[in-house]
Amino acid sequence: MGQRLSCFGSSAHDTAQPSPPSSVAAPPLGPSPPDSETAARARGFQFKLYDWKSTARHTEITAQTHPELVKELRTIAHALAHHHQYLAVVTDIMRDFWTRLTPQQRPSTSPPTLQDVTDFLQQHFPVVRMWAGLVGQWGMVDKGEGDNAIYLPTTVLVDANRYLQTPLPATEADAFHITAHNLLLTITLAHELVHACSKWIFGAVLTPNGIGRNDNGHGESGWEAESRLLGAYLYLEWKGGFRKFRMDQVVAYYLEDPTRPGFEVRLDEDDISAWGPAITYALDNNLPFPPPPINFATSTRAPRPSRGYIRMRIPVVLHRSGSSSPDTSEPSDEPSGEQPPATAPLPVIGGSSDANNPLIRYRVSSPSV
Ligand SMILES: [Zn+2]
Repeated sequence: MGQRLSCFGSSAHDTAQPSPPSSVAAPPLGPSPPDSETAARARGFQFKLYDWKSTARHTEITAQTHPELVKELRTIAHALAHHHQYLAVVTDIMRDFWTRLTPQQRPSTSPPTLQDVTDFLQQHFPVVRMWAGLVGQWGMVDKGEGDNAIYLPTTVLVDANRYLQTPLPATEADAFHITAHNLLLTITLAHELVHACSKWIFGAVLTPNGIGRNDNGHGESGWEAESRLLGAYLYLEWKGGFRKFRMDQVVAYYLEDPTRPGFEVRLDEDDISAWGPAITYALDNNLPFPPPPINFATSTRAPRPSRGYIRMRIPVVLHRSGSSSPDTSEPSDEPSGEQPPATAPLPVIGGSSDANNPLIRYRVSSPSV
């Protein structure tokens, strides 16, 4: 596996790599702005959001049509684009990316800088496309198209919007589901923005091996960022396929140890209720992200999901129930009806397996790398 042992390759197969540039120290974290100031800044952080259709009749989603959803996405996006720890981590990954390319592949003679990454996130934030054809993934950046865009699945955003519109006071259950949606969107955007940034800087080049966990023969810069920022990978588990996703149908949450593929530890709702808002608080106030709410060293590995349930990692790998033959009663995750836009090929489902991780029985091969 290409799991990184340190910021710049110290794993065995990295020894032939040229010396990496020095890592970027995080700038000092600024004081916490008042909530109203944060909200006002987020409102001013503009990027386009579309309901993306194959027919080219794309509809813009605006603060007038979807006020709460737009506010939620803008708030997270603005906070990520200005979060010093996030900017430093993305910059480190981009510099590592550059180091591992051949001189011919490099877009410049010197590695990307913190200013390059900051300019991308603050001045060239990608367009966000809500797409019904995105199935089996929480998010995607398609390096095969020219657009500076992030795709998010309609299923998830529609469900998030439903909760966000819930009039106050929400029930305790609704409040929990809003927290979970906020966490899901935050991690997904943080992950996909790394891919979008690498595409902005390096074009269609896939993440080199050695950055993040190996994914079908190449690295995974989004996972690397999650690992460094959060120290864990979050999974959701529910019954049925991706199309059946609803936050109120999620039966369990898990965290995977980034250093031990398949070592998943079950969280209880109190863990999510504490960790989610702590991440949001850190994000909104430019503070370092909190550690995971469990200690992997003293935790028990969770059993496989029950038959019929899907345990899905944010954002890419799917775990199915441990039956030896495909469960044909499960709904297909193949998109149907909605045709993909010409610029965004469908994710390829199934097929490849990761020889190093027998627990991954069902994998979405994503162009989002
Ligand atoms: Zn990814």
